Amino acid sequence: MNVNKDFIKQLNVNATVIAATKYVSKEVCLDLFNLGVTNFGENRTDSFLEKYEYLKDKSITWHFIGKLQSKKVKDVINKIDFLHSLDRFSLADEIEKRAEKTIKCFVEVNSGEEQKDGVSYNQFASFYEVLKKYSKIEIVGLMTMAKDNASELELEDTFNKLASLAKEYNLPFLSMGMSNDYKVALKCGATHIRLGRVLFE
Ligand SMILES: *Cc1c(COP(=O)(O)O)cnc(C)c1O
Repeated sequence: MNVNKDFIKQLNVNATVIAATKYVSKEVCLDLFNLGVTNFGENRTDSFLEKYEYLKDKSITWHFIGKLQSKKVKDVINKIDFLHSLDRFSLADEIEKRAEKTIKCFVEVNSGEEQKDGVSYNQFASFYEVLKKYSKIEIVGLMTMAKDNASELELEDTFNKLASLAKEYNLPFLSMGMSNDYKVALKCGATHIRLGRVLFE
């Protein structure tokens, strides 16, 4: 897969565009960077480390957007700028233990019954309350993945619900919207969109 230059050149959105790089090699990541993309998001620790090493001298903001296994925290946590998938205390405990500085985190909220990851809306208040005690974790926002095949109305409902929750807790950032649904997410106030397939051809 290669970079879809035309798409990237015409993309003009009022949000941080994170390139979801799980589909591509480190060389394609360099092409993205040379086209002006400076926010990268990886899902897997091994691919993250490979790309991070390769692009080390570049001015890139690194996001970890996939599920992070607790045992992998020590390998990546001091290299990333944002974690988008904080969803459990065991992960928070490991971050607290391994982080050398405060880590900016999004709490991942579960927006669909078939999706396993993420804190449910019912559990959010108590999860957030306990997280305040962690000195190495700074909650900067909320992240969600909408259901596959959701209608436009369902998407709006999902994204508006996340936006209200963030507002209620005074959290500035909303990481929501992927290739299929980023336009709806932007309408609902996304500050960070995570684009994968649409960036490549
Ligand atoms: C792959 C991925 C994306 C991007 O998905 P596309 O549909 O390819 O745009 C966004 N967020 C996460 C967490 C992902 O794993």
